[in-house]
Amino acid sequence: MRPPAGPRAPVAALLVLLGACAPALTPAVEPAPAPAPAAAPRVATPAPAPASTAAAPVGPAAVPDAIAPDAVAESLLVDVQRVDSTIAVDVRYATPYNFVGAVLPGYDAPRVLLRREAAAALGRVQAALRAEGVGLRVFDGYRPARATAAMVDWTRRVRREDLLRDGYIAERSRHNLGLAVDLTLVDLASGRELKMGTAFDTFSRAAHTANATGETAVNRQRLVRAMRAEGFVNLPEEWWHFSYDVPDPLRFDLVIRPARDE
Ligand SMILES: [Zn+2]
Repeated sequence: MRPPAGPRAPVAALLVLLGACAPALTPAVEPAPAPAPAAAPRVATPAPAPASTAAAPVGPAAVPDAIAPDAVAESLLVDVQRVDSTIAVDVRYATPYNFVGAVLPGYDAPRVLLRREAAAALGRVQAALRAEGVGLRVFDGYRPARATAAMVDWTRRVRREDLLRDGYIAERSRHNLGLAVDLTLVDLASGRELKMGTAFDTFSRAAHTANATGETAVNRQRLVRAMRAEGFVNLPEEWWHFSYDVPDPLRFDLVIRPARDE
């Protein structure tokens, strides 16, 4: 681990695997200059990705190069709360409470969109959990490509290019496909999150799903089991990150906007 050159990194190891989620974060991170949405570069297509050296279940090859038209995205992405209104959402990237310290470009509304199949599966997870008195709280789902680009840009602004060089942050993410979701469990009676050992987007060994004991281990496994039952696969390095497969993954850059009344 290199000494952080940018904001104080309170965690021992920033393990942002393939841009799966976000770089390590605690709200204490000094706010970085707000990313100007206009300046946020479209995701450049890097030469044949010197494919990340970081081992991960989902590699960059799984993420298509081209960005599908917004009209296609609109036809394939659905709001998880329309599938099941009892699914709670807490979209950090639509607020300044994230590692960049500003709303990420593309997040014009605090909504969680997913590919229709993934959203339906998430609805089934919620239904099964609800019978046990717990539910899901979702931090992120579909992420516009421009938001991922802004995360990459942030690493350059704060001189943490080592995170890119070492493959911890990539230009692509399965979130861009609407096929990854970050979430936790809440007790429905109290609304409190179940103890998971670390906060969402804390990237350290403590966030590795299997690196837990006692109540934390029980809760993490409960989340993994519930998600797995409907086809979601957990990223071992992030207890909160799950991916889902569809036969025709497409990459999107649709801006997440407030829902229209329909
Ligand atoms: Zn994630």
